[in-house]
Amino acid sequence: MTDLTSLTLAEARKGLADKTFTSLELTDAHLSAMEAARALNAFVLETPDQARAMAREADGKIAKGDAGPLAGIPLGIKDLFATEGIRTTACSKILGDFKPPYESTVTKQLWRDGAVLLGKLNNDEFAMGSSNETSCFGPVVNPWRREGSNTTLVPGGSSGGSASAVAALLCMGATATDTGGSIRQPAAFTATVGIKPTYGRCSRWGIVAFASSLDQAGPIARSVRDCAMLLRSMAGHDPKDTTSVDIAVPNYEAAIGKSVKGMRIGIPREYRLDGMPAEIEKLWEAGAAWLKAAGAELVEVSLPHTKYALPAYYIVAPAEASSNLARYDGVRYGLREQGRNIIEMYENSRAEGFGAEVKRRVMIGTYVLSAGYYDAYYLRAQKVRTLIKKDFEDCFAKGVDAILTPATPSAAFGIGEKGGADPVEMYLNDIFTVTVNMAGLPGIAVPAGKDAQGLPLGLQLIGRPFDEETLFSLGEVIEQAAGRFTPVRWW
Ligand code: GLN
Repeated sequence: MTDLTSLTLAEARKGLADKTFTSLELTDAHLSAMEAARALNAFVLETPDQARAMAREADGKIAKGDAGPLAGIPLGIKDLFATEGIRTTACSKILGDFKPPYESTVTKQLWRDGAVLLGKLNNDEFAMGSSNETSCFGPVVNPWRREGSNTTLVPGGSSGGSASAVAALLCMGATATDTGGSIRQPAAFTATVGIKPTYGRCSRWGIVAFASSLDQAGPIARSVRDCAMLLRSMAGHDPKDTTSVDIAVPNYEAAIGKSVKGMRIGIPREYRLDGMPAEIEKLWEAGAAWLKAAGAELVEVSLPHTKYALPAYYIVAPAEASSNLARYDGVRYGLREQGRNIIEMYENSRAEGFGAEVKRRVMIGTYVLSAGYYDAYYLRAQKVRTLIKKDFEDCFAKGVDAILTPATPSAAFGIGEKGGADPVEMYLNDIFTVTVNMAGLPGIAVPAGKDAQGLPLGLQLIGRPFDEETLFSLGEVIEQAAGRFTPVRWW
């Protein structure tokens, strides 16, 4: 039954509809794969009973002919999404054994459409990181290895569990979140597809907040079509999130296979970094050539404020995080450490509950928001953010339909290899992705090739606000040209 795990979501949907197999069989195949892959540390909680109950329910509905669009499809959920009655930790000790009394809107919509919950997926603590090494449950291992090497590599982060599980065929798709690159960078490191939709496309309600003006949920899956299927269920207006936008959700799948003839694709000159590996440069050129061959027109564009995006992000994101994380005080959630008085109890709980990276962000955030530094840092970063957004607007105003860039400046690196001495080394991973969050735009990462060591590399397409459809159309052109990549199983 194990080959059921290698189907795409679209293939599984057909198999279920044709009664070639049941959701229970499909779910059991994934539960077995998860059990055999614990070395990857992708799941922090497996929910087999829940999964089988949901699969049986889906089978019942399929038999009756009233199946939802994702009926019987087993998914993994990033542990940042609140799941009612099921432990949700953001992979932080401070949430302890927190079992939310509510369900996030995004996951609620997935269950409404018939999907099956396999378990909760590992991530960087509070989604702060680019390698999934800051999780209180330990690092996630990338199913990809360098050719001829046993070195364990990171899957990227913060949605490392989602990317690793999807790449290793442990689930058919996964939810993820992206504040500065956390969907797209892990997708690129694992040869999976990930889309960060436009800010406001998916409800943030019930997702553990990191930086509220940047956070956005999206899917990671094994094909562009699968991502389109998942996003359709995840997206939509929600009165419980005032930043969610009331625009009808299109049938994203209809964009797959649509002609891209005549589309204008911007190639931003500022993304050509000094010292960027030649392989990434080559991949980028190949991507441009594929789109051109499909009838698109390439134009060089300029996004002049790109170089300020990362520094501005590392002011705005920690500022919002320091405010959002103030709620973890030892009273409301999970962990509490005793103290002689209430202040000491707060201090001890936070000192014990937060990991080093989270503490660093809280301190930076508090600093840049404090009287005397607010204008110099936070306010200036906000102004830079406006300029970054304007760069993109100017570009789209000139008739550019989408922008093509590399997804990451390197392939996956080794566990423990980066950021030990200097956190900026890790932050640089998001150089091509943070601008998109700063501007609130949609961005998709699609596998496009491999480096000399056999590791996957991805390309990113950035679109106009609420034009995810163009990204799906263009992404599929790249997918068709590049082919799909699967890691050789060693676990
Ligand atoms: N790597 C970035 C950070 O650490 C982005 C993380 C994310 O998108 N959640 O903040």
